Amino acid sequence: MQNINNYDFSGKRAIVRVDFNVPLNEALEITDDTRIRAAIPTLKKVLSSGGSLIIMSHLGRPKGPSEKLSLKHIVKRVEELLGTTLKFADDCQNADDLAANLKPGEVLLLENLRFYAEEEGKPRGVAEDATEEEKKAAKAAVKESQKLFVEKLASYADCYINDAFGTAHRAHASTALIAKYFPNDKMFGYLMEGEIKAIDQVLGHPERPLTAILGGAKVSSKIGIIEHLLDFVDNMIIGGGMVYTFKKAQGGTIGDSLVEEDQFDLALRIVEKAEQKGVKLYFTSEVYATNAFDNDAEKIICPSNAIPDGWQGMDASPAAIEQFREVLLNSKTILWNGPVGVFEMPNFANGTNSIAKILAEVTQKGAFTLVGGGDSVAAVTKMGFADKVSYVSTGGGAMLEYLEGIELPGIKAIRE
Ligand code: AMP
Repeated sequence: MQNINNYDFSGKRAIVRVDFNVPLNEALEITDDTRIRAAIPTLKKVLSSGGSLIIMSHLGRPKGPSEKLSLKHIVKRVEELLGTTLKFADDCQNADDLAANLKPGEVLLLENLRFYAEEEGKPRGVAEDATEEEKKAAKAAVKESQKLFVEKLASYADCYINDAFGTAHRAHASTALIAKYFPNDKMFGYLMEGEIKAIDQVLGHPERPLTAILGGAKVSSKIGIIEHLLDFVDNMIIGGGMVYTFKKAQGGTIGDSLVEEDQFDLALRIVEKAEQKGVKLYFTSEVYATNAFDNDAEKIICPSNAIPDGWQGMDASPAAIEQFREVLLNSKTILWNGPVGVFEMPNFANGTNSIAKILAEVTQKGAFTLVGGGDSVAAVTKMGFADKVSYVSTGGGAMLEYLEGIELPGIKAIRE
């Protein structure tokens, strides 16, 4: 494994996996270029060090070549951000000449990798009523052709950089398999390095107390993270729809609030594990409850374990947020994932927005704060606090898997 800062790029062609999976509107214009901007430092580094670039990415979930999901729609924006013109290969498997003729400082963008089933290594077009044998054969066939697909991509370049944290949890051709063709010339880009460093600062060598705030709808989807984090944190704040499953499991009444009855045992096990580990668990103690799942429904404030029949918990109350604030003000490292209320409804966004605000406040006081996962990132961004917390992760799914303790294929492939 090499380091992008020390690697000698002069006269070399670098193939870089980026995440240019940006949202496009009906007119095929980019509506949010955050992901493109996130990769620019790495791309500029190669160019300014005398190398040339072959950029590869996926866009959307095409089932084959698709005009709508062509990466040509983003060429102009990349050119503006990089300050140079791009060559474009409209078939990522047929770019030999374009790649071979690249001169130092030149950039080639490959067409959407997912136009080929081999990128993901999953067969396409297998009939739903296909027999198990047929499905197996289709899988084996795509795995076989995937080798040629990766070999072709690798043949374009002298070194490989992975800067696509958003797809690091996928063992795809361009995110993982390609790395083995560059045993001495593979490295992370700056974005990947930043993400890994931020998570290591939380789970590897945090300044304590370390507090995790976990929100969201379901215990079942967060259980892996909760259990893993209990081995690391001093405090765990649990908010959002998850709370009611815990409260009901502990004998409380939760009215019509969100609940997963099949998770009661697990919820009680988590409480027990936290006790054993000496982790202080904090749940939303008091909530806004409504008589309908509606932004304009009538609302009352009640304890989260005493919600009347016909009412459901929607957001943390100001008193509950104040309790969270106290814990957060006393923390030196904080990790936040998941909203603490139905934040899509303006009347129940206060809890989540308040957490964003408190994180900005404690960051200013010197705490390290990491925000990960789509909804919490959206909340800090919307509140204008994205640059007031220590780190905002760009990878939703990848971040969640990392927090579960899963070794991400995209990271492993570079390291091993
Ligand atoms: P997740 O994808 O598990 O992180 O969950 C995010 C979702 O949780 C968001 O869409 C929120 O609206 C939802 N959520 C948060 N708190 C509650 C609650 N009290 N009741 C229902 N849904 C909630």
